[in-house]
Amino acid sequence: MNILLEHALFLPQAGMEPQPDMCVGVTAGRIAFACHKAPREFLPDRRVDCRGGLLMPGLVNSHTHSPLSLLRSHGEGLPLQSWLESAVWPFEARHTTESCYWGTLLNAAECIRFGVTRVCDMYIQSSAVAEAYADAGLRVLVTPTVTDALLGENPNLLEEIEELAERWTGDPLIQVGIAPHAVYTCGEALLKAVAALAERRRLMVHVHVSETLEEQERCRSEYGVTPLEWLDRFGLVTPGTRMAHCVWFTPEDIALAARRSAVIVHCPRSNLKLGSGFAPVEEFLKAGIPVALGTDSSASNNNQDVLEEARFASLLQRGLKRDPAVLPPSQCLAMATGGTAGCSCLLPGEPADLILIDRRGPHWRPGRHPLPDLLYAASSTDVRLTMVNGRILYEDGVFSTIDLDRLYREIPRFYPDQENLDLWPGVAFQSDGQ
Ligand SMILES: [Zn+2]
Repeated sequence: MNILLEHALFLPQAGMEPQPDMCVGVTAGRIAFACHKAPREFLPDRRVDCRGGLLMPGLVNSHTHSPLSLLRSHGEGLPLQSWLESAVWPFEARHTTESCYWGTLLNAAECIRFGVTRVCDMYIQSSAVAEAYADAGLRVLVTPTVTDALLGENPNLLEEIEELAERWTGDPLIQVGIAPHAVYTCGEALLKAVAALAERRRLMVHVHVSETLEEQERCRSEYGVTPLEWLDRFGLVTPGTRMAHCVWFTPEDIALAARRSAVIVHCPRSNLKLGSGFAPVEEFLKAGIPVALGTDSSASNNNQDVLEEARFASLLQRGLKRDPAVLPPSQCLAMATGGTAGCSCLLPGEPADLILIDRRGPHWRPGRHPLPDLLYAASSTDVRLTMVNGRILYEDGVFSTIDLDRLYREIPRFYPDQENLDLWPGVAFQSDGQ
């Protein structure tokens, strides 16, 4: 299918200047051209008038736990341990492939609505997570969680992850990695086994690191090193390893992460909401560490809004450093579109993962500075169109891959508090037949 996006203010990549009145052609899932006038030989099946909109790469959520959308705002205000014990773990103990599928689909719908085109997920029941994202049409790195407890319940866990990776090999949208949850939930033997499997199958590693001061101190007293140094001993800190949080990194941790070219996934709102602290992002960037953004789960954030995450990242560092020049919009947008190293780009030949943001609202006027407008004034609900791999998943209120009416009928069965059922008005669904 050939799609022509016309008359857009076009931002091909974070760090570039937006160009007015551009035409972007999409064919076979990729950007065919981006210029002022479409080539005559390009015959579009569909034209989208982008006047008044900013066309840019889709946002990337580099750390979340998708099915926990079902737990949004549940157990609010409880201290971490009792929140886990009374709100999260009893719910997770009842999880089935069905609840994980529908919870993930709910998460996917929210991502699509907020202009997120790629997700990095860490959870159990990953086959259901992968199926839901495949049905939604999003691009995803699915990283099944492993812990000593999970391995105790299911001794075949690592073999099953290998099978899952095999099952999705070659898929254009779904990739499988592996997620040793954290140093406090994975013992030495498991970390060794995970590292061996990751190396043998070339699986991307995704892990929580130094989220809380308690984690940092406990690891030091148990192993004599920081969580990052401990993971590094097993060869788990490699280029591309996604390390979520990294709030309590020491200067030595920062130097080590930089040497390994691992990616830090900054999750400022989750860190604030759970009272974990402030990650030294400015220091990460100065050291040359690639930094991406994650929302963490909707149980602890409480949404999947990556634009808001970018805004918090900037505001927080500016306040902490008392410097309005740190984390400027272009750097935050690079973090929000895949990371400061290797953010997405919409040049010809690249995958057509893009969003169109409506700039016609009063909060966008006078509109002379679209990047600061986007970071500090826009709302994620300004997203008008979300496209992944050349396929329009959302446009002007209509989802093409997710039937929201059906979704809203299914999910109450899995809510943690059954007395709290909400009935919402229906939302338009129009299948694109793909
Ligand atoms: Zn997390």
